[in-house]
Amino acid sequence: MRPLGYTRATDVASAVALLATAPDARALAGGTNLVDLMKLGVERPALLVDIARLPLDRIEVTPAGGLRIGATVRNSDLAAHPLVRDRYPVLSQAVLAGASGQLRNVATTGGNLLQRTRCLYFQDVTKPCNKRQPGSGCPARTGVHRDLAVLGTSEHCVATHPSDLAVALVALDAVLHLTGPDGDRTLPLTSFHRLPGDTPDLDTELAPAELITAVELPPPPTAVRSVYRKVRERASFAFATASLAALLEVRDGRVETVRLAFGALAPKPWRALTAEAALRGGPADEEAFGLALDAELAAARPLRDNAFKLPLARRLAVRELVRLTDAQESR
Ligand SMILES: Cc1cc2nc3c(=O)[nH]c(=O)nc-3n(C[C@H](O)[C@H](O)[C@H](O)COP(=O)(O)OP(=O)(O)OC[C@H]3O[C@@H](n4cnc5c(N)ncnc54)[C@H](O)[C@@H]3O)c2cc1C
Ligand code: SF4
Repeated sequence: MRPLGYTRATDVASAVALLATAPDARALAGGTNLVDLMKLGVERPALLVDIARLPLDRIEVTPAGGLRIGATVRNSDLAAHPLVRDRYPVLSQAVLAGASGQLRNVATTGGNLLQRTRCLYFQDVTKPCNKRQPGSGCPARTGVHRDLAVLGTSEHCVATHPSDLAVALVALDAVLHLTGPDGDRTLPLTSFHRLPGDTPDLDTELAPAELITAVELPPPPTAVRSVYRKVRERASFAFATASLAALLEVRDGRVETVRLAFGALAPKPWRALTAEAALRGGPADEEAFGLALDAELAAARPLRDNAFKLPLARRLAVRELVRLTDAQESR
């Protein structure tokens, strides 16, 4: 039996101070990932600092006309919020594509971004895994990797990031608000999740004892159509095989604004900057979309059983861009 401390924080400053008291303390939000990992023996914290009741559960309009989403806003509340549904429908769709109604009622915004990979070896403490135990090896490379990453991998880890929410937020240029022992800072979400490189055990840039306090969205781009589309093994309650958040504005047959992010292809939500650069200002047609996607996916390094994700992601993106174009032209 291992002793486990539990304490409920009353404000952000005390939560950070409590987290700083022990290197293996963990913030507990909805607990839907952390508690599962504790049961599996993957996470073995000595102290849980409950942050679920911190006053971070509001969604507010920012002075710039964007949205500030508190870190403990529940996934269900986020998806149902009128401002999110009206002005950021891609975000609402992404949240509703994840988990189940019951889980979304408990899971939080911050916790969703910090959930760990679903790689089978990571979750099985009897197996080696560089992410869980650095230097122990990556059995997924030659073992079960059908669901794992094709972009941004390293020889040390090929895990995917599982969040749907994060994919939409990356496409929306979200910025994180963080508070830690050294004070407050902001960080673009695109820079928050790390590629594995030589240190696959480090998922994010979160510093020790640091908390996500909020996610800020800039005002939504005007005249843009958007969609979140998720391909998965079953219609609900399944992680993505591949997913896409797309925002597109077409003017006079040319791409005015485009933002694309993929889920389940990489160890982080993958902003498709190469495809975006190829598309911007060019013709909004199927051929141009296909060429841009080919350029984006050229960097992929698929393994034995997951090369199918490349044509899948290409078709998914081309089809959704064509649909968004058609929807604008028929207005
Ligand atoms: C069966 C099942 C199916 C699922 N399917 C999907 C899916 O399809 N798509 C999807 O996106 N997700 C899915 N999920 C994941 C689910 O969305 C996450 O478990 C959930 O969002 C995590 O939020 P939480 O508040 O419960 O986090 P917790 O479990 O409380 O915390 C997760 C991690 O984040 C840390 N943490 C939490 N909040 C903060 C904060 N504010 N600052 C710093 N650290 C923090 C914790 O210390 C912990 O390390 C599924 C989960 C389950 C169990
Ligand atoms: S892919 Fe990453 S998480 Fe999975 S076994 Fe390899 S090192 Fe571990």
